[in-house]
Amino acid sequence: MIFKSKNTDLNFVDGVGFLTFPSLSELDFVRHAFSTRIGGVSTDEFKSMNLNFKRGDDPEKVTENYKIFCKATGFDYNTLVSSSQDHHVNVRCVTSADCGIGIFREHDMPSVDALVTNEPNVTLVTHYADCTPLYFADPEKKVIALAHAGWKGTVGKVGEATVEVMTEKYGCDPTDIVCVVGPAIGFCCYEVDTPVYEEFASLTELKPAYFTKSLGHGKYMIDLKETNRRMLLEAGLLSINISISDVCTKCNSGLLYSHRASGGKRGGLIAMMAIK
Ligand SMILES: [Zn+2]
Repeated sequence: MIFKSKNTDLNFVDGVGFLTFPSLSELDFVRHAFSTRIGGVSTDEFKSMNLNFKRGDDPEKVTENYKIFCKATGFDYNTLVSSSQDHHVNVRCVTSADCGIGIFREHDMPSVDALVTNEPNVTLVTHYADCTPLYFADPEKKVIALAHAGWKGTVGKVGEATVEVMTEKYGCDPTDIVCVVGPAIGFCCYEVDTPVYEEFASLTELKPAYFTKSLGHGKYMIDLKETNRRMLLEAGLLSINISISDVCTKCNSGLLYSHRASGGKRGGLIAMMAIK
């Protein structure tokens, strides 16, 4: 396995591999990570750090993976709060009262694809396998958020919805917000048919020529990360505060679970972030 990136770090602690992003590593008030397949106890198509309870893996192994992952990355297992995402654009504000939801307590937040908090000791967890992770951190107001943007969430502007909640409920100024558009299926690999292309082509305010390419015969390539970047600029973020990971999940399917590369037989990756 060869990992090449100009802007994403691959770290190993106690045999657990995880990714971090320099622009968030520079912020000393947050802890963040993006998981890889390396260092867990799951087997077969879940090999080995599967962090998704809903893919058919043994739940005890998934729980063990969470504990191993938290120990290696410095997060507190008892503070995890997981989204119950299903490609909607609902944003939920969470507190310490929500700790354990989706991990060792039942999900009580259906259709939530983005989580926001301003409390320390609350670790946000969102799930991926080709979809786009959006990390948000406001160093002024000390507010963080994670959003899951697949193609539906991207077209539905879940990132903009997250910025609106940070602004309206927590008083954040969008020009202060630092954002990382994390590892996802890249422009190199994300091929779609006409109906999905038309959804992206309808985002005329974002100038779709910058994130769509026709291959002919009703096939198109879509750049999910660039679509999200342009949407975040529209939401008021500054270009200098947005970083895009150059890591494609499908090109790196030995390191990262990719829905497309595996034909759907796969475990799940997570983004994690907490205020220290
Ligand atoms: Zn690729």
